[in-house]
Amino acid sequence: MFYARVARLYTQQPDTKLAMPLEDVSKRAIADTWQAPRGTDRHHEGQDIFAPRGTPILSATRGIIYNIGENNLGGQTVSVIGSGGRIYYYAHLDSYARGIEVGDRVTTRTVLGYVGTTGNAQGTPPHLHFGVYTATGAINPLPLLTDRTAHRPSA
Ligand SMILES: [Zn+2]
Repeated sequence: MFYARVARLYTQQPDTKLAMPLEDVSKRAIADTWQAPRGTDRHHEGQDIFAPRGTPILSATRGIIYNIGENNLGGQTVSVIGSGGRIYYYAHLDSYARGIEVGDRVTTRTVLGYVGTTGNAQGTPPHLHFGVYTATGAINPLPLLTDRTAHRPSA
């Protein structure tokens, strides 16, 4: 079933708009750090979205949970595969949403986990590292992100 679902996603066009993974953060609040140097041998393959520890992280797309796991840089991470086979990578999670499993279908209302400082974010202000990977490598998520909350004109 998992592979059939994933195969179907590959036949669909990639999403051109992504929902902000943190509900109350606006796109304007993100300082663009795409491809900023990280150490001597890396560049930042994503965007950092700052929020208090424990802020729920919502999936930016519909898709299927592809990986849940820990690595040295990302700490606790969740990866979702979306339309077009794109991989959406959520890192530095304080904890995972209870009960999530590889193969679960997700929507933009699904909580994946909570903002933290795991991996190489230890000692930094809590943030979500959000990456988008195509078959040919990482792309900048920022132009694709859209605010969740309509910002009402001030009275
Ligand atoms: Zn980052």
